[in-house]
Amino acid sequence: MRAAKILDALKVETRDFPDPKPEGDDVVVRVEAAAICGSDLHALYQKPGEKKQIPGHEGAGVVVAVDKPRSLKIGDRVAVTACRSCQSCDMCRAGYTTYCRAMKGVYGFSLDGVHAEYVRIAESSLLPLPDFIPFDAGCLILDPVGTPYHALKRMAANATHLIGVFGLGPMGLGAVLIAARLGARVIGVDMIAYRRDLALKLGAWRTVNPGDGDVVQQIRDLTKGYGLDRSLECSGKAEPLHAALDLARPLGHVAIIGENEKATIRPSDHFNRKEICLSGSCCFPLGEYGEIVRLFENGLRATDMITHRFTVEQAAEAYRTFAGGNTGKVIFTRSGA
Ligand SMILES: [Zn+2]
Ligand SMILES: [Zn+2]
Repeated sequence: MRAAKILDALKVETRDFPDPKPEGDDVVVRVEAAAICGSDLHALYQKPGEKKQIPGHEGAGVVVAVDKPRSLKIGDRVAVTACRSCQSCDMCRAGYTTYCRAMKGVYGFSLDGVHAEYVRIAESSLLPLPDFIPFDAGCLILDPVGTPYHALKRMAANATHLIGVFGLGPMGLGAVLIAARLGARVIGVDMIAYRRDLALKLGAWRTVNPGDGDVVQQIRDLTKGYGLDRSLECSGKAEPLHAALDLARPLGHVAIIGENEKATIRPSDHFNRKEICLSGSCCFPLGEYGEIVRLFENGLRATDMITHRFTVEQAAEAYRTFAGGNTGKVIFTRSGA
């Protein structure tokens, strides 16, 4: 089969790999759609050195080979979850497979991933994909839909809220889409005009360009001094997190989605005197999958986030395009359409 191979920093090629075989309850999925994630860029594409595994953890496809499956059969449509979890620890039993205490690997990082024609994957790492969710939407479920959905749910976000989304990469665009779907007024913040324009198309009420001056002041002006009820930090940078904390109204809530090595909090200003909540967010617990499916059933247009489509054969161009920043979600499909 053909699959992407990351050879070195900023260097991707498409190469031949052996066809995966099913084994035990590991099945083989033909990948119909797979997305490039910001984490693929940071953790794999921009770091020096050849990466052992095939990249990609966001995918959807069809089961094409089985050995001793427990529930899946050939022809089943599935969405991929990234983790190969133990299925028996307390976290797995609660559906939080991301936090499995005996994790066996993560597809696209320590295990071969989905930027390939086929992937061998544990049955328990797959979710059934209903017929009404097309594959290109299915590959968005794990991260750009599921992560912000879970974050917004934890924050009890609702239609009365003014919600700030800091960073309008795919995760931020997903946050805009879902927060707008909930009926909230959403303010999107990003330096890149392309992404601000896309956020408006996905339902943002206003956008703010940090290049136009102090973000805190700009948002205070837009909200007549009110600030924000809820914020999602999706940029992975310190300053936007500081702005989100500064702008949080008393009893507000900020969720951190972007990977962020360091930021400064001011406990007295932010927490003692405003009683705000700060939460992290990473994927979604499997118990929320039914709710996410319902979002699609009720008309969530997640594929509006997709701006570029490639075949796996064009992996080098796909990665380069996504890394360039003037994109929404960049995906692979079998036909490139
Ligand atoms: Zn991802
Ligand atoms: Zn576990």
